[in-house]
Amino acid sequence: MDPLTPELEHFIHSLPKAELHVHLEGAIEPETVLTLAQRHAMEERLPARDAAGLRQWFSYRDFGTFLEIYMVIQDLLRTREDFALIAYENGADMARQNICYRELTFTPYTHVHFQRKGVRIEDILLGLEEGRQRAKADFGVEMRWVFDISRNLSFPDNGMLRYDPEPGIRTLDYALQGRDYGVVALGIGGYEPTAPGRYFRAVFDAAQAAGLPCVPHAGENDGAQSVWDAINLLHADRVGHGVRAWEDPTLVRELAARRIPLEICPTSNIQLKVYPAYADHPFRRLDEAGVIVTVNSDDPPLFNANLTQEYRVLAQHFGYGKSDLVRIARNAFLHSLAEPGTKARLLAEFDAWVAAQETGKQEAAGV
Ligand SMILES: [Zn+2]
Repeated sequence: MDPLTPELEHFIHSLPKAELHVHLEGAIEPETVLTLAQRHAMEERLPARDAAGLRQWFSYRDFGTFLEIYMVIQDLLRTREDFALIAYENGADMARQNICYRELTFTPYTHVHFQRKGVRIEDILLGLEEGRQRAKADFGVEMRWVFDISRNLSFPDNGMLRYDPEPGIRTLDYALQGRDYGVVALGIGGYEPTAPGRYFRAVFDAAQAAGLPCVPHAGENDGAQSVWDAINLLHADRVGHGVRAWEDPTLVRELAARRIPLEICPTSNIQLKVYPAYADHPFRRLDEAGVIVTVNSDDPPLFNANLTQEYRVLAQHFGYGKSDLVRIARNAFLHSLAEPGTKARLLAEFDAWVAAQETGKQEAAGV
């Protein structure tokens, strides 16, 4: 694979970006994981005492190990200050990558109930708000939250033996409480095959009735049926991943016709072995079939990646040029769940940047 030209590297770096699918707890850099572990005297939970060792630990092999690492990191988050810290640092990362707007998925139920850490939802909402506002003031970035239901915790026996509606009900309640603190949608994530979408219908009906948008993960570790459930039963305004919709041509046509965007995370899909290699990934085929595609990084440090890197993947592995990168980047602004005023401002700024590139090109050519 040829390296990108310095000019295209520069273009990708400076392109104003929006990201719709990234997990706040999965975006914590190793250095901050160490800070949190020291803060709470929990270093023994980590297999290494330095960032390089933690990066090594992040090179897991399967979805199960990934979830184990994820739960250890979640367990380090215990106070309002912790939530403020990770939100603020995420904002700093946005500024480094020219990401103007991010919707971050966050799983409140785990912190408040599952891990029994004594964290209250008020600590979480106020901590996230403090970090988000400080990041906006210091870096000019806009952050919003998607509160998501854990599929796995909704089936405590680790199989379809007993569905516990509690995580779903509580998560919706927290999301509705959080609407004044930047929560814009209800999501659901985790292992699809043992926790299918149909069980969660009532809670997504309730979200829709309350006017809260729905953005379920589906079609990642299960096939097309899971995506059908997401769009027909869970009121999906967008689908998280959704790539395995490619397995059903009728579904691909349906997604295109109903203009339901996919939040595609190519590197995550390769790392978690949804596809063996980028050459097998259906990103471009979905795009060419008329499905609205966006590109996202999911859990960047855990995949040794970030959003800028995902744009490089689009250019290097999927053969996209600048105008396609602009179109795909614009999709994310266009299909964000930001309030109308913010969305219009971000889109106008994006379009102005693109127009300035064109003008610069013409000036350079002496036109
Ligand atoms: Zn995800």
